[in-house]
Amino acid sequence: MHLFDVAIVGGGPAGSSCAAFCAIAGLRSLVLDREKFPREKVCGDCLNPSCWPVLERLELAHQLRDLPHSKLCSVAFIAIDGREVIVDLPSGADCEISVKRSLFDDLLLRRACELGADVHEQTTVTGLSRNDDWKIETASGQTFHARMLIGADGRNSTVAHLCNLLPRPARERVALQAHIPLPRDFGNRIVLQFLREGYSGQAPVNETQLNLCLVGTPPTISKLRQWAERQFQLPADQGWRTITPLTRSSVPTAHENLFFVGDAARVVEPFTGEGIYYALRSGELAANAVARIFRGDDRQLVLRNFTRAHSRMYRGRLWINRLSRAAVLRPQLGSLFVHAARIRPEIIKFLTAKIVEKL
Ligand SMILES: Cc1cc2nc3c(=O)[nH]c(=O)nc-3n(C[C@H](O)[C@H](O)[C@H](O)COP(=O)(O)OP(=O)(O)OC[C@H]3O[C@@H](n4cnc5c(N)ncnc54)[C@H](O)[C@@H]3O)c2cc1C
Repeated sequence: MHLFDVAIVGGGPAGSSCAAFCAIAGLRSLVLDREKFPREKVCGDCLNPSCWPVLERLELAHQLRDLPHSKLCSVAFIAIDGREVIVDLPSGADCEISVKRSLFDDLLLRRACELGADVHEQTTVTGLSRNDDWKIETASGQTFHARMLIGADGRNSTVAHLCNLLPRPARERVALQAHIPLPRDFGNRIVLQFLREGYSGQAPVNETQLNLCLVGTPPTISKLRQWAERQFQLPADQGWRTITPLTRSSVPTAHENLFFVGDAARVVEPFTGEGIYYALRSGELAANAVARIFRGDDRQLVLRNFTRAHSRMYRGRLWINRLSRAAVLRPQLGSLFVHAARIRPEIIKFLTAKIVEKL
């Protein structure tokens, strides 16, 4: 029986980052993901500038810049009545970019593999049990053994579910996402558009494609889809990826031999486009904590420090995320905010600058 030091369920940004940093620390690391990479994912595809330092530490910044991507120069907030306000984004090498998740996540997972993590794709975790070590069972009947376990398996985390820690999902909203042909003259901007039934996020991901996200409630999402079909002249058989819930309560992040990272730990409102940063950074924090435990540091102290560092990561801008949530839940309110920002643009400039400032 092969015993891994750490098993990571989920090979998205949180899991890959954690696996890569665990491998750098010399730990025997295992990653299990149910998908075959490269795979797409419901996401706005935008990378907050705070991602760059983590990517530098993974020595991936160069390779990321070589992938097809768009440098994003501004955000246009559009009210329900079409009025808009535009806020410039910071420029330079470490600016906000958009890149397809198929490319980004694959780059990260390959890096974890290159650093020595043992990666198993198309491997769905279905069962967990623990004596001293974890026994992990998969849908295809394989079993793996590890001393520590990381739940990095996203907002509907199977690990949290199997450990009876997953909060009851409030299926209040649903998102649709597609890559569609880039409209001519769209420009290198993000569009955040309030609509009567919810909102839409749009960003070019390369020279020919636009990432289009729609967020609404189950009864209104088909109206949003019809709006998008008209607005972007989409065919009726346009394929959409879908995800729910959009937000949920958080899961305690640190347990004796178990950590949760990324969306599995905490889901934030996607409007502000920060989830990937939290995933990358929490993966790194968990890897550091696990490495310290293996080095023989006081486990309780390590767990406390990890929990503190994890909440500190959100501090300072979680309130803006909550404000955005209030605005997107009531698009009329969001639109009023856009109207107000046309008169006093410094408010929206301040909020945007807080979100895209590097942590
Ligand atoms: C509409 C929308 C738009 C968004 N836009 C942005 C944006 O522009 N910028 C941004 O930063 N964030 C955005 N986000 C948030 C971002 O997508 C997430 O925060 C990010 O993907 C979290 O990464 P993660 O690694 O924690 O989880 P995920 O990316 O969800 O990865 C989890 C992995 O776990 C695997 N998995 C799940 N269950 C199992 C299982 N049982 N066994 C094995 N593997 C399993 C999955 O296949 C997946 O690969 C958006 C979210 C939504 C919903």
